[in-house]
Amino acid sequence: MKCMNLVYKNADDLMKIRDDLKGYFPGNILIQVFCGISDMDTMNHLRSLLCTLFPGSAVIGASSAGEILNANVIEKSIVISFTAFEKTRVVSALVTHNDNLKAGGKDMGTALNDNKPKAVIVFGCGLKDGNYVNALPFLKALNGKLDNVVIAGGQAGGYHEQTSRVVVFTEQDLTEHGFAAAALSGPNLCVNTAHNLSWMPIGKKMAVTHVKGRRLYSIDHKSVKDIYLQYLGIEAQPSSLYLMNHFPLMIERRRMHVTNPVLSVNPDGSFNVLERFYAGEQVRFSYCDAGLQEEGAKRMGRKLAGYEPEAFFVYSCESRKTLFEDDIVVDMTALENGPSSAGFFTFGEYYTDKNKAPRFLQQTMTVLALSESETCKIFDEEEDFTEKIELPETNLRRFRLLKAMSHLVSSTTRELELKNLQLEKLANKDGLTGLFNRRFFDDTLAHRMKEHSRSGAPLSLILIDVDFFKQFNDHYGHVAGDDCLRRISNLLQEQMKRSSDMAFRYGGEEFSCILPATAHSGALQKAETIRAGVEDLAIPHKTSQVAGFVTVSLGVITLTDNRNISLQELADACDQLLYEAKHGGRNRLIGKNLSSHEAC
Ligand code: GH3
Ligand code: MG
Ligand code: MG
Repeated sequence: MKCMNLVYKNADDLMKIRDDLKGYFPGNILIQVFCGISDMDTMNHLRSLLCTLFPGSAVIGASSAGEILNANVIEKSIVISFTAFEKTRVVSALVTHNDNLKAGGKDMGTALNDNKPKAVIVFGCGLKDGNYVNALPFLKALNGKLDNVVIAGGQAGGYHEQTSRVVVFTEQDLTEHGFAAAALSGPNLCVNTAHNLSWMPIGKKMAVTHVKGRRLYSIDHKSVKDIYLQYLGIEAQPSSLYLMNHFPLMIERRRMHVTNPVLSVNPDGSFNVLERFYAGEQVRFSYCDAGLQEEGAKRMGRKLAGYEPEAFFVYSCESRKTLFEDDIVVDMTALENGPSSAGFFTFGEYYTDKNKAPRFLQQTMTVLALSESETCKIFDEEEDFTEKIELPETNLRRFRLLKAMSHLVSSTTRELELKNLQLEKLANKDGLTGLFNRRFFDDTLAHRMKEHSRSGAPLSLILIDVDFFKQFNDHYGHVAGDDCLRRISNLLQEQMKRSSDMAFRYGGEEFSCILPATAHSGALQKAETIRAGVEDLAIPHKTSQVAGFVTVSLGVITLTDNRNISLQELADACDQLLYEAKHGGRNRLIGKNLSSHEAC
């Protein structure tokens, strides 16, 4: 594989490259053009020049928001990247779409399917009236047509101050509404991808309150426009989309943080977002952590170098560049020790994740790494985040500032998260005994009852009441009373052996235990152990009418056979059993197994 990347100045440079690539079959040559000068005449002229000089080779090009050439970032230039493969065939195709992205993806797949490509580089037009288009339906349809393919590339960019038109082209034609793609197929072509996000959640958790698929209306019962105004101080409108999307909403999908940027703002104030939201789902704003960005770049570089690639193609989000300005060179450190690299800054990245699913990403830097060498292999996308990455002290002053700021935000966010967690826990606990409280009992029992009606696994409940406790207080005093309750609580806590068993302070001197997936016989045994255990504590109780020490009475109830009753009915039924135990002489337990044939 031979790679030659250059900043285009005049036709002479291209003639020289033509001579250098003489030995290669034209059908094995890929030419990518990243055009930071997006006037149509320049692009059309260049396109026909490339066609004339390199007949039979595949050309794909896109307008760009910044160009990348051998780990350097350039602006408003034209970077041309030539890749001459030994054995890999390259074909290009262009489709135009009239808003039917799915059909466009299918057409593209049909056009490129001939040689069963391993990788397809796609450049798409994704800007319409200042809003972003969600290219995912296109990518999915394309992926559906091509078996096991890696899709890479990105959405054509432009400079915001020019509110530029976005353009893609191939050697055949040029369009402002469509996709250009090059398919690579060959027996020994090895394709790897990597990406770096480095956006982190920040601020408080909020809940999505009104949403229809990808149309988001309200968060925390406030209109999304108001939420953006409140937290970011930004008036939501197409011209501020790029700013809003420096702080995209973040959601968790399959335990991964995913940013969900706003693609467009509707006249009714709702937002069209990239990923589907669900009502009740938790969201937070997010921001780019500069420290993580630096670490991510180093990690990505190390990972890519490990497999000895022959060419890097970089499709990186324009928002990274507007955020970091000159310090974007930090991202480029990922490419430093690798082969030649070329690419552009996009309005959205096309990517294939480790499950081979196509993704439309924002805010990321993505790299497509290619090799035709026999020894090359596909590396594992699983990242080892425990691996320590040494970062040399940077001399970029602004970046150091951003890093310190990010560090401050991240560490404060982490501290607040921890405090919130502690508060949540405290809110569920009883102050005197440390057991879970009545409020948490109600929540837990409701949850377990739902689970029971779904699974049918038996669910047992024990209510426990201290016998003659009023007399205990009267005789020994309240402080001793409290101490007695704590000792009984400790005993209960010790008896909760399974992780799903939970003990609660139900009321003053009343306790309860929820025992999920526990049959009646098991619950009776547990209740008896508790009863005997309290006896064994041998807390003197001179004024008790059942014994010379503290005792308890217990009601035990078990739900079986998906029996459907309300929480209140269940608690009342158990209370009735406890009452019977009291009536029957105290220091005893009465149980009942509620199966579907029995009335409650
Ligand atoms: P029974 O055997 O019928 O259950 O009789 P009892 O005396 O235990 O029942 P009753 O409901 O009449 O009295 C409960 C007593 O528990 C009254 C109250 O003073 C005491 N109590 C409730 N909460 C606490 C507490 O937090 N600390 C202390 N020390 N006593 C409490
Ligand atoms: Mg009581
Ligand atoms: Mg009592």
